[in-house]
Amino acid sequence: MLIKRLPLHVDILIVGGGPVGALLAQKLINSGHQALLVEAKCAVGKDPRALAIAQSSIAALHQVGLWSDELDATPIHKVHVSQAGTLGRTVLTAQDLDLPQLGCTIPYQSLAQHALNTVSMGKAPLALGMKVSKIEQLARFAQVTLQDSRDHSEHHLTCRLLVLADGGQLIDQLHDIQQTIKSYEQHAVLAKVTPKHPHQGIAFERFADDGPMALLPNGIDYTLVWTQTPEQAAARLALTEQEFISEIEQRFADRITGFSAVSERASWPLALKTLNSVVGERVVMIGNAAQTLHPVAGQGLNLGLRDADTLAQIICQTPKTALGEAAMLQRYRQLRSRDAGLVTAFTDSLIGIFDSPAAPMKHARSLALMAIDHCQWLRKGFAQRMVHGAR
Ligand SMILES: Cc1cc2nc3c(=O)[nH]c(=O)nc-3n(C[C@H](O)[C@H](O)[C@H](O)COP(=O)(O)OP(=O)(O)OC[C@H]3O[C@@H](n4cnc5c(N)ncnc54)[C@H](O)[C@@H]3O)c2cc1C
Repeated sequence: MLIKRLPLHVDILIVGGGPVGALLAQKLINSGHQALLVEAKCAVGKDPRALAIAQSSIAALHQVGLWSDELDATPIHKVHVSQAGTLGRTVLTAQDLDLPQLGCTIPYQSLAQHALNTVSMGKAPLALGMKVSKIEQLARFAQVTLQDSRDHSEHHLTCRLLVLADGGQLIDQLHDIQQTIKSYEQHAVLAKVTPKHPHQGIAFERFADDGPMALLPNGIDYTLVWTQTPEQAAARLALTEQEFISEIEQRFADRITGFSAVSERASWPLALKTLNSVVGERVVMIGNAAQTLHPVAGQGLNLGLRDADTLAQIICQTPKTALGEAAMLQRYRQLRSRDAGLVTAFTDSLIGIFDSPAAPMKHARSLALMAIDHCQWLRKGFAQRMVHGAR
């Protein structure tokens, strides 16, 4: 429900109306707590990302109306993982996990706009065009300053519990949280490429010498996520369409019969961002605000949605007067540390493991992929980690 006037105080303030903040707001509708979602933008802008979303995440979004069959999602039935120049490869299938599909790919823009539209039309209070510019953490409440993007007016609001689902923009404002940023010194080049033959719902993860590449089925196209050095990325953005297509065709020559078109290309710097703690005085971080991962394993949003789900459960079990208190925050931290830690380490290790072009390492990786392919429980475990995380 869109609100025009901000209150002076709420129990729970959720900052950031991306998919993670929106999921939390929808889940809290019936908890009896007063929660307000604020989003800096009035509408989701153009975004080149297409996200691979696991079946369990789709179910969580669906349950609260944030997933609709009308969204332009594309099912993923198989994920083909391989290393260029070697025989090592494995195929993860929906049957490995007894699921109808492994998940879907969805343009970020469609998912995020649908989430905002659904919250606007539902019962959860939402203020659009309200950017949090300042945070003060106090012992009994947090106070935030917001700026209205339409008339630049300033508002002040206090809350018992401040939830940052802002993608990590406000971390520097917190007096008791430190962020560590590990730059991969890599950029992801994103583009839509049209295959010459239907993709049949098969996604590809390819570890090439110059960086991992993913092809995610997206409508009749693929969205390409190609990791490379910033210099290579700049050079590849400058290629003609035909030159760009031939470069991708070379790398997928043994898997895909070719591409007929490529869209506008974009590039995205990549870093791992983690916090010394996902909770601080009166505040909790969820989604990308808590951890920003390399997109190689397609896990960032899936993990963030699980953050929101767990936080909603804890809030529902917490009396209003204990919201934002240390005991509640520590409970959240404990419950999320295993899943978040394992998924973050798993994603980061993929970059390290596949980074070395040395022949012995390549051989070892090839053997590991073959082992996963031949051993059903290893394959199932790998697929399970990709689809359900580690909780
Ligand atoms: C190239 C790429 C590919 C990816 N592919 C995948 C994938 O395949 N699968 C997957 O699971 N994940 C993937 N991810 C990760 C995924 O995009 C993120 O994990 C996800 O978008 C995080 O959602 P969020 O709601 O936490 O944050 P965001 O989507 O960043 O939303 C944050 C919201 O907060 C708002 N905001 C920011 N600051 C303020 C403020 N001061 N006041 C008010 N509002 C504010 C923003 O406007 C925004 O709407 C990918 C990421 C990249 C870069």
